[in-house]
Amino acid sequence: MKCTSCGKDNDKVIDSRSARGGLAIRRRRECLDCGERFTTYE
Ligand SMILES: [Zn+2]
Repeated sequence: MKCTSCGKDNDKVIDSRSARGGLAIRRRRECLDCGERFTTYE
């Protein structure tokens, strides 16, 4: 998953939980390059 700030594909998942009644998974990610934190839905 590319960072929303620096565009590098170097992140770790901090937290994940189900969303939309289990249809999607929401993940909190932190970029290891710049420290940006962002949320993705998969
Ligand atoms: Zn970054």
